Amino acid sequence: MKIITRFAPSPTGYIHIGNVRSAIYPYLAARQTGGKFILRIEDTDQARYVPGATELIMDTLRWLGLEWDEGPEVGGPAAPYFQTERKDIYLDWAKKLIAEGKAYADDTPSETIEAYRKADAAAKVPYLYRNHRPDTTKKWQEGMPIRFKSDPKPRTWHDEVMGDMHAGPEVQDDIILIKKDGLPTYNFAHIVDDYLMGVNMVARGVEYLSSTPNYLALYEAFGIDRPLLVSLPHILAPQGNKKLGKRDGAKSVTEYRDDGVLPEAMLNYLACLGWNDGTEQEIYTKDELVKAFSLDRIQNSGARYDEVKLLWLNGQWIRKLVTEQGIDAFYPRTTNFWPETAKSYADSYKKQVLGIIYDRLKTLSDLREMTGYFFADPAFDIDQLLTNKFIKKTGLSESELAALLDTVRTRLEKLPAWTEANLKTILNELLETTGRKPAELFSLIRIAVSFAPFSPALDLTLAVLGRDVSLSRLRRVQSALVSDQQ
Ligand code: GLU
Repeated sequence: MKIITRFAPSPTGYIHIGNVRSAIYPYLAARQTGGKFILRIEDTDQARYVPGATELIMDTLRWLGLEWDEGPEVGGPAAPYFQTERKDIYLDWAKKLIAEGKAYADDTPSETIEAYRKADAAAKVPYLYRNHRPDTTKKWQEGMPIRFKSDPKPRTWHDEVMGDMHAGPEVQDDIILIKKDGLPTYNFAHIVDDYLMGVNMVARGVEYLSSTPNYLALYEAFGIDRPLLVSLPHILAPQGNKKLGKRDGAKSVTEYRDDGVLPEAMLNYLACLGWNDGTEQEIYTKDELVKAFSLDRIQNSGARYDEVKLLWLNGQWIRKLVTEQGIDAFYPRTTNFWPETAKSYADSYKKQVLGIIYDRLKTLSDLREMTGYFFADPAFDIDQLLTNKFIKKTGLSESELAALLDTVRTRLEKLPAWTEANLKTILNELLETTGRKPAELFSLIRIAVSFAPFSPALDLTLAVLGRDVSLSRLRRVQSALVSDQQ
């Protein structure tokens, strides 16, 4: 079956990772079956509307590579795809129900409704509006809400993730279809839209499960087939047993982008948060996900959000892409992530730096912290050198360390060509001539040229830094050790 499905966000703010997973599974199901993935903007709740949110949603989907076949900016046979622009359609559909005696216009004042609620609470009976349904029906006029005339009865259905479900009449009520402002409720609008857009699978957060009996009643009232229903369990906060929310640091997806997370890694991570194909595989490309995805392997319990895992996966993806595509192809992705001091450097030099450091990055923004010494002399701190555990192990005094650096520098100065291969040979030779352990000798040289907690392999680091910079930094530290001693 070709899955025609949709992502139907409300433009109420940024989309965080908890929301966007509801786009990924429908997308994968649509692509796998050669169906359709529709984007519909559910903007009928004017009080919660946030300007710019729709653009952010589209930006996020495009960044993740979840292109839509129908929807804003793309169009399609069921246009428009903004619910506020479909107002008349919902009203027509609601009027059809009124004509058939399955809905009614109701202008009961809100104070009266509040009084019903209170009375039911005092009588300890569940509040159901249908118990207070007015005896006489009014002719609909603008400004009057329209309610569904519910037909409560036991209902059973199958949810692709939650299994066989049933609900009693007590959860079915005269829900509002059209509000006072003339706009439809979510409960009503999505039924009409899914039908008109040919949607045959609805995947959404599990919070809609409890309303499903009311939706089933609406499908029945219209005489339309219900789509496949897929309830997606919540993504849980790193701690506790609650849904991941903005307060638990659920950052917007675009914030991760700005922090140097790759879209491939984000998609991979979120798709596998609450779904697996039963194998140990952890790295999936989008195409692999499309092939491997199946609804019946979505977990029915909440999956815990784990940023450490996301960043690990991102590191894996950086390695994978550089290995597969090469530095030249990957390099443009790093544009915004270099330290300020790198600005004046040529791309060719930055590519060299990237080439030796990429396999240590977790996010692209690590470049900012990890590559400073390639572009400017590092802040100089002789104590950092003296307190390093490997330097301490040498048991050498400052003047002895200075002498050791002198030996190194003099030898390096004689190199006929400053190449990786030559540097490697000389560094090994120096181990022999000085009788020092690699960790000790190489830490001394590494700190002297970088003052960084770690760096790529020393021969590579020196090769990229170049002859002049490397030698002058060695000289600088050597003389600092000498004058510190005096
Ligand atoms: N507008 C709803 C939301 O953002 C969509 C639910 C659905 O996919 O039907 O939660």
